[in-house]
Amino acid sequence: MKPFFIIFSLYIALISLSSCAREIPPRTEFVIGTVCSINLYDKGTDAVYSEIFSRLRELESILSANRDGTNIAHINEGAGIKPIKANPETIEVLNEALLFSSKSNGALDPTVGPLVKAWNIGTDYAAVPSKDTLKKALALIDYRKVIVDPNAGTVFLKDKGMKLDLGAVAKGYAADEIVKILVKHKINKAIIDLGGNVFAMGEKTAGKNWTIGIRDPETKDGDSIMTISVKNKSIVTSGVYERFFIQDGVRYHHILDTQTGFPVKNDLLSVTIVSDRSIDGDALSTTTFLLGTERGILFAEQMKGIDAIFINQKHEIRLTTGLLNSIKILDPSYTVIN
Ligand code: FAD
Ligand code: MG
Repeated sequence: MKPFFIIFSLYIALISLSSCAREIPPRTEFVIGTVCSINLYDKGTDAVYSEIFSRLRELESILSANRDGTNIAHINEGAGIKPIKANPETIEVLNEALLFSSKSNGALDPTVGPLVKAWNIGTDYAAVPSKDTLKKALALIDYRKVIVDPNAGTVFLKDKGMKLDLGAVAKGYAADEIVKILVKHKINKAIIDLGGNVFAMGEKTAGKNWTIGIRDPETKDGDSIMTISVKNKSIVTSGVYERFFIQDGVRYHHILDTQTGFPVKNDLLSVTIVSDRSIDGDALSTTTFLLGTERGILFAEQMKGIDAIFINQKHEIRLTTGLLNSIKILDPSYTVIN
């Protein structure tokens, strides 16, 4: 063999070796209103990361209730006027939200938009709205006035001023969309974290589950108070620590009671849902939080393939039966009281 050819072959071998061994670090970007971090442990490439974040940006441009020009903004502008052409993504997320609205008798309601806008929680100008503002917002909330026409592919909000807000469900849908991309690329080991909506894809190593931490629900960036052991599951948490503001010493969080107009009042700090599909977990974490522990745990227990963790202000943890053997408490101030 000519020396040049030996060196060339060695060079090719080195390139392929280094590309095999190359670790692509996790990628984190701010999109869909939160910090999204994706960690591909298997066959991750820059191209796959880029595809994932492009899809997230695309979903934001369709589903955001906080930006002009999105499909949701167009549907809201057409309220009381005419049905508006809807993206398939909008229809899928909206149908999921409406399903949980009817199951929860309107506790979860995707027409909560005027109330969300009245509070402005998550912005610098969050404040307790006036009684009059709350009354007007509440009068516009009614999921039964959302007309989805699957044949025409349109959505119509019956009353002028009605506004959709899919914030309670859309992050879960986004996580499921990322899973689809990974399946397409035959990637089966990844952690998807969309601002606390976690999907633990596949197994950590052959036969070994992922250990996922459940954050201290009293602080936004606190340590984990417990862990759960899962494989190929979505883990979604709704809590009082996610988005809130304090006015006159009172803390107001972002999960709103569609009867009173105020943040829902119960003893819960957080609800975590473990499920196969993240859209179900997202819809359920908000719905069961709104229903409170007793009704919420019954609601979760009667759904197939769903597990839940309810944590209250007394640091008591209630679990659905499926989780009893897969959790570990790290903070001794918390106790399981099943
Ligand atoms: P969850 O418990 O899953 O949901 C709570 C959220 O649901 C509330 O924030 C509110 O939006 C809504 N909600 C409250 N009460 C009810 C109720 N009774 N029924 C139904 N829904 C209710 N945030 C920004 O600050 N700026 C942005 O530009 C922005 N863009 C976004 C774009 C997209 C596509 C998505 C999915 C989210 C975006 N967000 C943005 C975040 C969004 O506004 C919500 O705050 C977020 O999705 C809440 O998720 P969570 O898991 O913390 O809470
Ligand atoms: Mg939710």
